[in-house]
Amino acid sequence: MAMKRVIKGVHVVPMGMANAYLIEGENELTLIDAGYPNREAAVFGAIRELGRSPDQLKHLIFTHGHPDHIGSAAAIVRQTGARTYMHPLDISITESGGPFRPLTPAPGPLRRVLCKLVYHPDKHLEPVAINQALIAGETLPIAGGIEVIHTPGHCAGQVALLWRPGRMLFTGDVCMNIMGLSDPIGFESLEEGRASQRKLVSLSFDAAGFGHGAPIAHGASTLFRNKYGRHPQEVQQRSAA
Ligand SMILES: [Zn+2]
Ligand SMILES: [Zn+2]
Repeated sequence: MAMKRVIKGVHVVPMGMANAYLIEGENELTLIDAGYPNREAAVFGAIRELGRSPDQLKHLIFTHGHPDHIGSAAAIVRQTGARTYMHPLDISITESGGPFRPLTPAPGPLRRVLCKLVYHPDKHLEPVAINQALIAGETLPIAGGIEVIHTPGHCAGQVALLWRPGRMLFTGDVCMNIMGLSDPIGFESLEEGRASQRKLVSLSFDAAGFGHGAPIAHGASTLFRNKYGRHPQEVQQRSAA
């Protein structure tokens, strides 16, 4: 499957069962996440399809340090020299290439099966050196401004990334978009994961890109509000009190 435009300046690059996203700047490209291992050709193909060259990929920002998001990173960095960014809590597992922290399946029978099937914490990958630790709340001066929001729960070092110029939110695995907005396959902490889902409701965005499932080009924040916002009845009761 080839890359697809989501909004002006952002393309989704399928990397196995996980997505990476390519953001086009005037002179440089930024990649969000690096998919499963051995998928680097998809990224280089996408870059060439845009009429660019791999050495224009300057930044590789990770939403978190799981095998399906860092898998092809070492190969991509080798060919491009891209600078790498990650939240401090996931840097050591990424720089050692695993093992990864265990996940408890998200509620429901489907997630229990999926989690066992696709998540293998004992996996070892080619290590990836991280050049810069992400700081919660900072706005990276990359591609016109990318805000870092710490969203632990699925993974302690997970961040969501808000690309300001295109008002597009990259959620990592805070949630998926498979049969609608839904839980990731598992959590390190369900409670923190729920808090992170609610945190995204407070952000202002139009488009959303997920680690898994189809991206949304318009009206994404309304879907998030409906799914994770405070129940309307609860709001009424609060304002009546
Ligand atoms: Zn994950
Ligand atoms: Zn994932």
